[in-house]
Formats: sequence, C-alpha cells, structure tokens
Amino acid sequence: MVIVLFGKPGAGKGTQAPKIAESLRVPTLATGNVLRSAVKDGTPLGREAKGYMDRGDLVPDSVILGIVREELAKPEYSHGVVLDGVVRTVPQAEGLATMLKSLGRKVDAVVSLEVPDEEIVRRMGTRTVCSTCQTPYSDLPPGAKCPKCGGVVMRRSDDEPEAVRNRLSVFTAQTAPVFDWYKRNGARIAVVDANGTVDDVTQRVLRALGR
Ligand SMILES: [Zn+2]
Repeated sequence: MVIVLFGKPGAGKGTQAPKIAESLRVPTLATGNVLRSAVKDGTPLGREAKGYMDRGDLVPDSVILGIVREELAKPEYSHGVVLDGVVRTVPQAEGLATMLKSLGRKVDAVVSLEVPDEEIVRRMGTRTVCSTCQTPYSDLPPGAKCPKCGGVVMRRSDDEPEAVRNRLSVFTAQTAPVFDWYKRNGARIAVVDANGTVDDVTQRVLRALGR
C-alpha cells in the first residue's frame, strides 16, 4: 500500500508517519531524509542535488523524484510505504505517479491531516526537533536531550509564527490543488481531523484507511 501523507506544515505528518507505518508494517519515506542521505552518500543524484543546494537553489523535482525512486526500489519498500513530504505540487504528484508506474506501483491512498491554521501556529510555537536525528517533539523544550539518540533538541527558526503563517499561505496556494488532483485521479482520499492526541489521530487514520 502506497500512502501519501498530506497536510499543512505542522499538521503532524512527521509525528503520524512512523505511527501509521508501524501499524501497517511498512516503512516511511520522508523526502528530506532521503535527500540528506543521498547528499551524504555522494550518489550521482545526491551530488547533483548538492550542487543546487550549494547555490541556494531549490532542488528540481526530477532530481528529488529520482532520489525517491532509487530508495523505493529497495526491497524493504516492496509491501508499501508511507510517503511524507514527497508531494507538494501538482507536477510532483504527476511525476510521482509516472515514477511509481515505472516501478509497477501507484498511490493507493492519500491521507489528509486536517488542522486549522491558528492551531498550527500555536503548535509550531511549542515544537522542537532533534538537531541530530530530526525527530520532532511537542513536549521537549529547546536544549533538552533527545530520548532517541541523545542529540540536542532545538527550536527551528522557521517555526516562528511569522514564518509559519508564510508557509501556510504558500501551502494554500501551491499544495491545495494537489489534493484536488488526487481527487480527480481516483486515489482513495482519507480526510482526517488531526486535532487531538497523537494516538487518537493515528486511530482515525487507520479507520479511514479501513484498518
Ligand atoms: Zn535525536
């Protein structure tokens, strides 16, 4: 089962992805992570991506999708995957569909985590992330030690209210049409109220997926 996890920045994708994946016994794949490892490992596409990043440019979709494709071709993804942050634009949705087709696969479901903007601004104000393993936390203050790896937990500068509102308006302009695209293209759409405890939201997602 290939699941695209969809939602505004701060809707809880990074928190829900591993929980949903664990329940479905499939791995997660976050674009940011595979991009970072490809750059670190110095793969041909990773080196290409680094070139764009070093110049301060956005890494083109074709390069990102190539990196995601290399990862998805690994056997551990053969039973399915929860894709986190892979699709942010309609061209990326189209690109992902074409790329999955080349692997004999398709997006089976799109899970949309729904949270009002004001709630996201509030959440981001308390969110921290491990500077080493990138695990997000809602309950650890900056400077705390990451329970997973011992790294230092930090506030990200792009989680400040101004930056969050800016990202939300970019989201509305750019990402909302992706949802419509999936509706038109027949993927199963699971719209989930993402207010509530982490476990409640996970359960709602699984119910919406028919699990
Ligand atoms: Zn950590």
